[in-house]
Amino acid sequence: MTKILFITGGVVSSLGKGLTAAALGAVIESRGFKVSMVKLDPYINVDPGTMSPFQHGEVFVTDDGAETDLDLGHYERFISTTMTRDNNFTTGQIYAEVIQKERQGEYLGQTIQVIPHVTDMILSKIKKALIPGLDFLLVEIGGTVGDIESLPFLEAIRQLRCEMGSQNTLFMHLTLVPYMATSGEIKTKPTQHSTKELRSIGIQPDVIFCRTVNPLDEESKRKIALFTNVASDAVISLPDIDNIYELPALLHAQKVDQLILDQLGLTYEKADLSAWQKLIENTRDVQQSVSIAIIGKYTELKEAYKSLNEALKHASMHLGCHLDLVFIEASKDPIAQIKSARVDAILVPGGFGERGIEGKIDAIRYAREQQIPFFGICLGMQLAVIEYARSQAGIDDATSSEFKQSGTPVISLVTEWEDASGSAIERTAQSDLGGTMRLGAQTCLLEKTSSTAEIYGTTSISERHRHRYEVNAQYVEALEQSGLNVVGRSKDSELVEMIEIPSHPWFIACQFHPEFKSKPLAPHPLFIAFIHAGLTHQNKEGQHA
Ligand code: GLN
Repeated sequence: MTKILFITGGVVSSLGKGLTAAALGAVIESRGFKVSMVKLDPYINVDPGTMSPFQHGEVFVTDDGAETDLDLGHYERFISTTMTRDNNFTTGQIYAEVIQKERQGEYLGQTIQVIPHVTDMILSKIKKALIPGLDFLLVEIGGTVGDIESLPFLEAIRQLRCEMGSQNTLFMHLTLVPYMATSGEIKTKPTQHSTKELRSIGIQPDVIFCRTVNPLDEESKRKIALFTNVASDAVISLPDIDNIYELPALLHAQKVDQLILDQLGLTYEKADLSAWQKLIENTRDVQQSVSIAIIGKYTELKEAYKSLNEALKHASMHLGCHLDLVFIEASKDPIAQIKSARVDAILVPGGFGERGIEGKIDAIRYAREQQIPFFGICLGMQLAVIEYARSQAGIDDATSSEFKQSGTPVISLVTEWEDASGSAIERTAQSDLGGTMRLGAQTCLLEKTSSTAEIYGTTSISERHRHRYEVNAQYVEALEQSGLNVVGRSKDSELVEMIEIPSHPWFIACQFHPEFKSKPLAPHPLFIAFIHAGLTHQNKEGQHA
């Protein structure tokens, strides 16, 4: 039977529950078990696809095209199982399905209630993630214990524990143990209270993870154990660390994996964390650093570019250099900011809407003219095409039909291609913004002789998409004639997936999001090549650009 580990959070949000769960998954996996993970989100949106990155951080896209919580990104970066749309669900999704069933008369005249109808739906969703051959399913409950929203989830997992028994399930609770600088002591009271809250709804944690500034001493662990009714070796301290990829080793050093496996009565192999250890060693005593400008509009909120930041970090760790990310607000004279930050390479990431686009286009032009390595992702590629069309292909008013500007739509919806005449831009009415995008993994075929094919080491790749607009086929010939190479196309050759400027040292852009597939133990080739280009540029210039 698959063992299920439930992870709840207490005291405050943003303690790193997803990361802790994912790192624990990695340690269990390193002992030869097959692990998968599920995130339950208490909010009412059906998925995070329509939420602003300011509200929710990045939307992570799975191979099968689900728009999911960013924690699924952590899961894929730490464990080897690929996430699907069955690995994340929300209150909104649960209620939508319950109501649909009710409308179809499937409840045979019953009164529909949170218990048992909503909780049963939650249980059926958790069970759907129990794929064949799985040894462990880690189930993370979003939000903080005590929130009204998460109660049905907690009730459902309480029931599942009764159904499966303590030999097959464990409850783990992550809390904050604050450090009071004035008195120089830590406070365990919030942990006591949040555990009490959990117990009041019938859940007694088996393991307590404590987020702290400094590692907990044995005395504090004993005190927390006593008040929360767990064994003192089941109190695990999670001090602040510089590199999140040290987490598997940190957990293993406190023997939490062994404790879990023993409690569940399993026999197990020795943990093999050598690949993680090697990765961390690569980051020690690093001398060189690379400075990358990210030109965006969510630059105040780093969570909005989570997978991107991690992908750049993976490549830097792989190349043995320190990564210095410079977030540049696109609407505030980005060229001046690029010049003063003296960066080695420029990246324009994905995004939606019009704000900041002219600043991003200016930054792309600067990168192209100054021969600074440039990487465009999704909106970044679309803006690179617009910039090239305006500056090199004589289409002065080039734009995207996503923006309210009038002009020639070199980027547009596929449905607009026939009408595009360069004058007024037709806009497609969209009443339902959920699910109207090209989403998920698709095959892209690369030109044999391109730098991109050399970087990937193959001419057929699969990458994940999340966008509505495409390079307008009507203008591809004009762009190519003026020196822009289309080096990647969709399988049917209809859609432009990747471009390069061959006369530039490193100017590559893609319509998909390669950052979703980069892992610390398997960095993405495009990011490695980009960071390498940044380092080469730095060496050539003798200094940052
Ligand atoms: N807004 C653009 C589109 O929808 C780009 C999306 C993105 O960068 N993810 O096509």
